Amino acid sequence: MRVLICDDLSPKAMEVFGEYGIVPEICLGMDEDTLVQKAADADALVVRSATRITRRVIEAAGQLKVVGRAGVGVDNVDCAAATESGVVVMNTPTGNTTTTGELAIALLVSLARHIPRADREVRAGIWKKKALTGSQLTGKTFGVVGLGRIGRVVAERGVGLAMNVVAYDPYFSSADSSPVPGVKLVQLEELLAISDFVTLHVPLMDATRGLMSKERIASMKPGARLINAARGGLVDEVAVAEALDSGHLAGAAFDVLSEEPPPADHPLVGRDDVVLTPHIGASSTEAQVQVALDIANQIARFLLEGRADNAINAPAVSAGDLAFLGPYLNLAERMGSYLAQRCKGPVRKLEVTFLGELEGRDVRAVSLALMAGALSHGTDSGVNFVNAPALAEERGLRLLEGHESDAGAYQSQIKVRASTQGGEESYLVAGTVFGKRPRFVRVDDLHLDFPPEGHVLVTSHDDVPGVVGRMGTLLGESGVNIRRIEMGKARRNRDDQKAGAVGYLAIDADPGSELLARIADLDFMREVSLVRLGEATPVSGDRS
Ligand code: NAD
Repeated sequence: MRVLICDDLSPKAMEVFGEYGIVPEICLGMDEDTLVQKAADADALVVRSATRITRRVIEAAGQLKVVGRAGVGVDNVDCAAATESGVVVMNTPTGNTTTTGELAIALLVSLARHIPRADREVRAGIWKKKALTGSQLTGKTFGVVGLGRIGRVVAERGVGLAMNVVAYDPYFSSADSSPVPGVKLVQLEELLAISDFVTLHVPLMDATRGLMSKERIASMKPGARLINAARGGLVDEVAVAEALDSGHLAGAAFDVLSEEPPPADHPLVGRDDVVLTPHIGASSTEAQVQVALDIANQIARFLLEGRADNAINAPAVSAGDLAFLGPYLNLAERMGSYLAQRCKGPVRKLEVTFLGELEGRDVRAVSLALMAGALSHGTDSGVNFVNAPALAEERGLRLLEGHESDAGAYQSQIKVRASTQGGEESYLVAGTVFGKRPRFVRVDDLHLDFPPEGHVLVTSHDDVPGVVGRMGTLLGESGVNIRRIEMGKARRNRDDQKAGAVGYLAIDADPGSELLARIADLDFMREVSLVRLGEATPVSGDRS
């Protein structure tokens, strides 16, 4: 087995590979051309975040079975290309959870007691205590936004510090029991209004970009302090600087910034009321060693025993099955993501039917992809084929699977209905694969033919003339191009006085909340939702 290590990895990983009789080759700092040559006969590639595993690398590596990322984010790996080529991509999602949570606590204490500033002053020969009067943590309200892996570590530590810990996570309603004992679940508005310290532990996705907007910062308790050890881009940093200037906020501590490293004139750099660290959340000896050990074990077990722990794109299916199922995995993941975004509340039930050529095949992998897609709306790293069932159970999501032989006009089809608690909301999507490309062929009552990619507006509106023109004008005035439109009549309910119409518009860019609100305000509009689907999935040899 030929394992190529492309980025700097703790030497402990070599010991693990050695125990399995594998002697990896270490080749750091390769450019794409060198990597294409070196990867030609590799069975496994191991990366951290520096090396990019592109479609070109994957397609040139005829023997490649697995790409392992020592760490969480896989932005540097073309996962869609890997899936199409039957290559498993795996990460090590838990190796740095505790370490990152501990950094958030370090920032909390630093902020409360002005430790970085105090240290700077003592070194500069200044010995003045008054300006360094701090804030005691005991009894203070600590708001944890995002109660995933890291958020839970932080919330637990907060309870240990005798703080009054409250948390918000859209996956848990205030009525649910909290996954962390002693932590009260509240809505985000309440959390911001009552917390003395707010710490962010949410993924960066389109839906969370700018989560801490100027308005939300203004809604924080006067004198509060904000901590971000999650991702740059979650916070309007200019608004934080303004809130510090006005005295509305008392301090902020960021391990991550929207631009890293920040420019010299960044509004938060150089302020005494701000603590900054250079994205070191995961940087502890223990975490570095842990992710190296995890990835070495996972890769060796996959190569020698076929066990795919923490696979992001593929469960344990044979390479032959994966070649057939790969495009359906992409399709199912997008269907799950689409449905999770259509539902305002958390999805509790997925009813999936496999039709035509898929009938009777072992499609467990596709069901897992669907589940992972539905659950990944809310996390940027951790949902994979291995943990999707456990996460589904934790989040009360059930999947019911059925098979039918007749796929209508298609060779094969996947049909999925998603419902929220008690069936309050329910949406349907059907899709198929043309060549290797996923297509949506039905959303609710509308039969269509769309590649599920980019930004999509799904509308329900009165069936009146001028709908397309007026929406097109609003979008056009803001420079948002419409790529494709499908419209159709909505099915009439018994109590529907006036049956409406439904529309599916693929647009070239995110319209932003203001434009979306103006579209929602159009007199004929009943409902409009923005759905963000993945990147386009080019098939081999097609770079369009
Ligand atoms: P996770 O996926 O386990 O948890 C994320 C949680 O956020 C989920 O429970 C999800 O339901 C919740 N969430 C999603 N949208 C939300 C919203 N709008 N409001 C509130 N909660 C929301 O992820 P994790 O492993 O705990 O990581 C959390 C963050 O920390 C991620 O952004 C990750 O990239 C970042 N991180 C940073 C470092 C660092 O070096 N500073 C290291 C590791 C991870």
